[in-house]
Amino acid sequence: MTQLTFTTERSSNLVSDIEREQILSDPGFGTTFTDHMVTATWTAEHGWHDAVVREFGPLQLSPAAAVLHYAQEIFEGMKAYRHEDGSVWTFRPEANAARMARSARRLALPELSEEDFIASLTALVQADEKWVPAYGTGETSLYLRPFMFASEAFLGVRPAREVTYSVIASPAGAYFKGGLKPVSLWVSQDYARAGDGGTGAAKCGGNYASSMAGQIEGADHGCDQAVFLDSATHTYIEELGGMNLFFVMKDGRLRTPALTGSILEGITRDSILTLAKDLDLEPVQERIEIQEWKDGVVSGEITEIFACGTAAVVTPVGELRWDGGSAPSGSPEGGGEVTRAIRSTLLDIQYGRATDTRGWMT
Ligand code: PMP
Repeated sequence: MTQLTFTTERSSNLVSDIEREQILSDPGFGTTFTDHMVTATWTAEHGWHDAVVREFGPLQLSPAAAVLHYAQEIFEGMKAYRHEDGSVWTFRPEANAARMARSARRLALPELSEEDFIASLTALVQADEKWVPAYGTGETSLYLRPFMFASEAFLGVRPAREVTYSVIASPAGAYFKGGLKPVSLWVSQDYARAGDGGTGAAKCGGNYASSMAGQIEGADHGCDQAVFLDSATHTYIEELGGMNLFFVMKDGRLRTPALTGSILEGITRDSILTLAKDLDLEPVQERIEIQEWKDGVVSGEITEIFACGTAAVVTPVGELRWDGGSAPSGSPEGGGEVTRAIRSTLLDIQYGRATDTRGWMT
């Protein structure tokens, strides 16, 4: 595969040091962006080319660009962490590269090699290094958003022959400011996020669009997020709109729904399955019925429930509600012992406070 070279054209319109420091003191999530962005182009004739780091700003797009009509788009989400010695690291970027390649295959988009994917992140983080929050400022990081979309101006339905790849970056603050607060979940019974043979295992924009009606229904019922079930039987737990789920059992098992093709294979999920044995837990991937959740939190069989993903790392799950009922919280206030142990184990690796024995940091 081609080795792209990312040329850096430094922006002449940098955010001032004072303004940047102000933003970094309370970045929130996803609202402010760094000085630069990456773009590269793929055409059916020439493959990948024109890889540049340039000033962050609007993209020029034809109103006929295929992505605006047929949603041929994929993305990734990851973070750059500052360590105590000032160095900047990413967590398992090759896993994001592999997932993006799988998403590309599913959405009939061109693959970007692992080398080019990692080079694009490195080039942007180098240009905008000052935007990576300082070590010791809570769980702050620079969120990286690589994405790829059909930019060809053509209204026929077929894979685009021109595609744009881009990476933007946004400073991210601590997800939980006032301590770990369990999230309440709404069981989305009528809306599925993804179906059999569909795109659920790919990280494509359409999955998120299809999750929103369920999220709104949940919010209307006073819940923080929605949990989606399998689309065929509405019986088995799949995942949240943007996080995977884990159940800590009284007998020491750590269960998570098996990958059925309609669940996104989270990198946090995979890391937790790997770390489980270090914490004397037995990781199990299997189909789990929603009824087991309702019964388990009442009987005490389930001792803790948490959701996981890049943004919040590990989030305790509270009350479950559905049309006609509710089940008690799956977590003590502040998160259970196992939830907190897994959370801090991951954070210690990501922020360089623990030895990275698995070579997860780049
Ligand atoms: N499921 C969905 C639908 C997601 O969007 C995400 C976030 N990427 C996850 C799970 C968690 O994945 P990861 O741990 O790789 O962030």
